[in-house]
Amino acid sequence: MDKKRDFLRRIVAEDLESGKYSKIVTRFPPEPNGYPHIGHAKSISINFGIARDFGGVCNLRMDDTNPTTEDTEYVEALKDAVEWLGFKWDGDVRHTSDYFDRLYEWAKELVKIGKAYVDSLPEDKMREYRGTVTSPGKRSEYANRSVEENLDLLERMKRGEFKDGEHVLRAKIDMASPNMKMRDPLLYRIRHAHHFRAGDKWAIYPMYDFAHCLSDYIEGVTHSICTLEFENNRDIYDWVIDTLGLEPPRPYQYEFARLNINYTVMSKRKLLELVQKGVVSGWDDPRMPTIAGLRRRGYTPESILNFCEQIGVAKTNSVVDVAQLEYAIRDDLNKKVPRVMCVVNPLKVTIENYEGSEELEASYYPHDVPKEGSRKLPFSKEIYIDRGDFEENPPKGYYRLTPTQPVRLKHAYIIEFKEAIKDEAGNIVELIVTYYPDSKSGNDKSGIKVKSAIQWVEANSAKEVELRVYDRLFKCEAPEGIEDVNPNSLQIVKGALVEPAVIEEKADVRFQFEREGNFFADPVDYSDKKPVFNKIVGLKDSWAKKSKPKPKQEPKKSKPKQKQSGGEMAELNEQEQAVFDKFIKEYGLNKQVASIFARDEVLAKFYEDATKEYDSAVTVANIVANDVAKELKSKSLEELKFNPKYVASLAKMVDEEIISSKIAKEVFEAMAKSGETPEQIVESRGLKQISNPDEILPIIDEVIAKNPDNVAKFKSGNQKLFGFFVGQVLKATGGKANPKVVNELVSKRLA
Ligand code: ATP
Ligand code: MG
Repeated sequence: MDKKRDFLRRIVAEDLESGKYSKIVTRFPPEPNGYPHIGHAKSISINFGIARDFGGVCNLRMDDTNPTTEDTEYVEALKDAVEWLGFKWDGDVRHTSDYFDRLYEWAKELVKIGKAYVDSLPEDKMREYRGTVTSPGKRSEYANRSVEENLDLLERMKRGEFKDGEHVLRAKIDMASPNMKMRDPLLYRIRHAHHFRAGDKWAIYPMYDFAHCLSDYIEGVTHSICTLEFENNRDIYDWVIDTLGLEPPRPYQYEFARLNINYTVMSKRKLLELVQKGVVSGWDDPRMPTIAGLRRRGYTPESILNFCEQIGVAKTNSVVDVAQLEYAIRDDLNKKVPRVMCVVNPLKVTIENYEGSEELEASYYPHDVPKEGSRKLPFSKEIYIDRGDFEENPPKGYYRLTPTQPVRLKHAYIIEFKEAIKDEAGNIVELIVTYYPDSKSGNDKSGIKVKSAIQWVEANSAKEVELRVYDRLFKCEAPEGIEDVNPNSLQIVKGALVEPAVIEEKADVRFQFEREGNFFADPVDYSDKKPVFNKIVGLKDSWAKKSKPKPKQEPKKSKPKQKQSGGEMAELNEQEQAVFDKFIKEYGLNKQVASIFARDEVLAKFYEDATKEYDSAVTVANIVANDVAKELKSKSLEELKFNPKYVASLAKMVDEEIISSKIAKEVFEAMAKSGETPEQIVESRGLKQISNPDEILPIIDEVIAKNPDNVAKFKSGNQKLFGFFVGQVLKATGGKANPKVVNELVSKRLA
């Protein structure tokens, strides 16, 4: 990956190249007053990620200067989160409270050189004296105290001789500064409170602006990375270090945009309220945006880190769509989890003409997942299918079991309806069916055509599980807090049945229950007696399906209704809707891509310019909506090293099959970095797609020779291995072989 992929990394790289620092030291400095959330994950990924990428180290520092809200439980949660995400802090966990003595000495130093004073103005006066953004402030009369008097008062403040709020220590900077933060900021305040580490030693505690820069300095931090709200504090940061005349090297502060996500609150204070009021079951409730919550929900560390990479590092605040986080976990799980069957709403089925029992071999993974493994599926006369998979009076387009339409039982046989047994109220309680003995999956000689394969479990071996199905915790896009909680964010489903391997084999803790979604064995409540699974995420993006464009003729409502149920994005405004419609109608783009363009003028313009150069709407859209969009997250249009013309010629090469779409990604990355044209890159790196059978066949033969077992399995009916062979060949050519040609040739060779 590009080492200089964002502005922070570019600064760090320059500082190393110029010799400003010989080793990079960053830090993650949370206040232990709550559990870390996904926003902290971004900060962790940046601070630890930069240290890792540049051979430096990252410290974990508890910023524990506020004794009344802090607790060791939170310290543990923070350590857990960093470790779970896969990072290691340098040395021991550090605490600002470890530096209290040194900080105090520096405070006295400032007093001695006339740069700090004890102020005794009451709070309201102090506020009044500060002035406003448009008018200068006025310095307190106490600022004239002598050094001796200041030192004496400060010492007595420290010893606890005064009440909270009676005095404060302030820096003497500039009461007329246009930066309000520089108007004699507070350095220390009196707090008669027990500190969870320092005990009762201190009756004064340092303020963030004083403690943070100096703690960075003590630790030898080089790049002190924080969020944009601290931009105006940077002047104090520099002032403290400069005024004390500290010996170099010194740290510098850099700011990036904090992460905001829609349908989510991201402040520890608001999250604490949800916990305290019992709206959620705790900090690790699977609906919480805390790292502990996401972890218990079943998110993987990789998915969260990928998400942090994808959203990039920018200097302007924005709101990220929660669908992007959901995409990250779905994408990660797709590559990893075993696929198994779970019948959520069981309906008994008796297969009249089946006798005895057998065990069917079924792969855990589809062929495009590079993992192997399979389990045994018990099969007998009595099974359960999902109620939704049978319709007595099917609507048009219904592909599953009906009185006249047979269906395949996934991994097993084709069945055909015979009779529905009903209770007195007319509800179906059981189906009687027959099966085709020669229709076994992988070896089907029946010649019967079915339109789909459905889930099932064998009646005697199936296990009952509890499913916890989550929806978004908040019902609106920009929730304030408790009042916006979605009352339907947790649904408990009892009586679902899973195949026995899920419980007995424990192939994983995460499973894809086919057609239902991805699930995770709840680490707290799961037991063999009562297996509980959390729904991590559905199989598809639910908003993409729901946010259909409105038909044009529909009369305009005066106020568009806010959609609130789980899943969808904010509605488009009128203008965005028009752009959306245009992209769908004129360019034939899918809704997801159209909605990306509808919400992003710069990207949409880039896209239109590129299609003017080369008229291939969908190929160009794929590159722009994915790759160009990613680039524009951390760069402005002017900073890009390529233009729409380049993207057009890249798309053309894909269309003309000169390069594969996989290689196109590589070309794009090189182009974004170097500014070379796609043609130059393909030429100089020899990336042209290989379509010549004479070149591909020897590779296929090699793969076949290396995998005799799989060849045998394939020839004895395991059709799924076809994908394995194609994948191996593509891999052997570094992704350069034309997949279409490989497919054809492999099927010829294995025939
Ligand atoms: P909150 O407002 O949620 O309590 P905070 O900023 O007070 O958060 P800290 O514990 O002080 O939380 O933050 C530790 C580090 O994490 C800081 O460097 C802070 O800038 C960073 N951080 C906090 N929230 C976010 C966020 N939403 N996006 C990115 N970084 C964040
Ligand atoms: Mg805070």
